[in-house]
Amino acid sequence: MCNRWGWLVCALCLAATSTSPLVAAGMLAGTAAVDITDYESGPSNDPLYAKAIVLTSDDVRLAIVTVDAVAIGGIGRIGDDFLPLVQKRVEAETGVAPHSLIVNASHCHGVVRADVAELTIEAVKQAAAAQVPVLVGVGAAEEDGIQVNRRLRLKSGREADIRHAYAMPPNDEVAGLGPVDPEIGLIRFDRLDGSVLAVVYNFACHPIQGVPSGGNTADLVGFASKAIEESLGGGCTALFLQGCAGDINPVNYKQTNVVRDAEPLGNRLGLSVLKAVREITTKADSRLGLRAKTLQLPRADYAQQIIELEILQSRLARSLSGTSLSFDTFVPLLVKYGVGGEFPSDYRHLYLRDELASKKGLENLDRENRKNLAQYIDNIRVMEEITRVNTNLALLKKHQAEHVAAQSRFVDVNLTTLRIAECVLTTFPGELTAQIGLDIKAQARDEFTFVAGYTNGYIYYAPTTEQMLNVGGAQEDSDCILAPRWEEFYKEAVLEELLKM
Ligand SMILES: [Zn+2]
Repeated sequence: MCNRWGWLVCALCLAATSTSPLVAAGMLAGTAAVDITDYESGPSNDPLYAKAIVLTSDDVRLAIVTVDAVAIGGIGRIGDDFLPLVQKRVEAETGVAPHSLIVNASHCHGVVRADVAELTIEAVKQAAAAQVPVLVGVGAAEEDGIQVNRRLRLKSGREADIRHAYAMPPNDEVAGLGPVDPEIGLIRFDRLDGSVLAVVYNFACHPIQGVPSGGNTADLVGFASKAIEESLGGGCTALFLQGCAGDINPVNYKQTNVVRDAEPLGNRLGLSVLKAVREITTKADSRLGLRAKTLQLPRADYAQQIIELEILQSRLARSLSGTSLSFDTFVPLLVKYGVGGEFPSDYRHLYLRDELASKKGLENLDRENRKNLAQYIDNIRVMEEITRVNTNLALLKKHQAEHVAAQSRFVDVNLTTLRIAECVLTTFPGELTAQIGLDIKAQARDEFTFVAGYTNGYIYYAPTTEQMLNVGGAQEDSDCILAPRWEEFYKEAVLEELLKM
């Protein structure tokens, strides 16, 4: 076991497998899409897919697979046995080595079929069998109208997040919100006749808007891919690679007065892709390379934070004070005092009558009611805070139990870096938050450097060290198994890998 100084060493003890970038005579690409929707699970709105693109250049062969599912293992329908099984079978049937298989989950919350592994293998097999010579072009687009950072900075210095699991913090406590990454990374593969074979696009946003029917859906990225494929035509396949979406939500996620509908958001994303992808010039740049590493990151120990949150939980419960009102009397009074201005309880002339007679009946009634309303609202705010604490405390306890049961103080993560022509792509198995992606891109050497989270496994959220100071306040800092120093180790390793591509 490593001591605390050993962390740095351990974090850099990487088992690496690499395939050197090559400048080759030409690149081959083949694509396929297989429907993985579980139509037995309930009404379906639109299909979920496992899509694959298999690329070959000289002796390098790799596959990028995108799956409309919440995660590759860890949570949801796809089990932890999925990736090793798919890797093994894909290697045997297509020659794509296990470390050269990139499987990215879109993170939509649709329900996939129980035999999703078989269907995914089928997609890679079909793609490998359909390879044709291609030209490759790389570019980027922007979209900032469909997403929002879901972490709100509060005046207290803490942060709260936008979830359906609990209420928003009160408006008068909100001081700001975090960043989004508007960049859409684009790779276009053209057949030699100039038609588009595939578009791979990388963007960061939780695809969790939902559809009016409430049916199974690939959500906004399903609609975006459909718009791209139908518009470009010619049997083009659009493959969505989820980015650093850990703290990025669709913009209308918590609306209560608008029907939740992913389709317009997806169409807008698709249009932004189309606008830029048509401008890309493809080239005979057939560089293809891949490096895969196992990186050890420090595991979180939440023992102390759990105690602190339990103290907060009990302090909040004790702060609930008595009030004469019940919900049934509170709601009509709230409306009456909201619209009644200075004279909520009766006609103005009756207030004047009181005044002329030096009586204070209505004045006293209003004072009492306003005091009770304020007290009831205070209690509601405490209740809302308790729901946030309860939810996030449950997440911390779950991960602490895993920490106690774990054999190691480290979490092994798969880190894969790819070179495809002018583009460099790095992947990570957790829900990286937007700032991480922005930082990596800002420090990367290559202009077209893209980051894909949710790939080749699932280790929950991966927020910044700064966001982790907020432990227990939001999902990203509570549904997390990494210790704060993970960010330093991860970025160092990624930037080192990017330079080698
Ligand atoms: Zn998520």
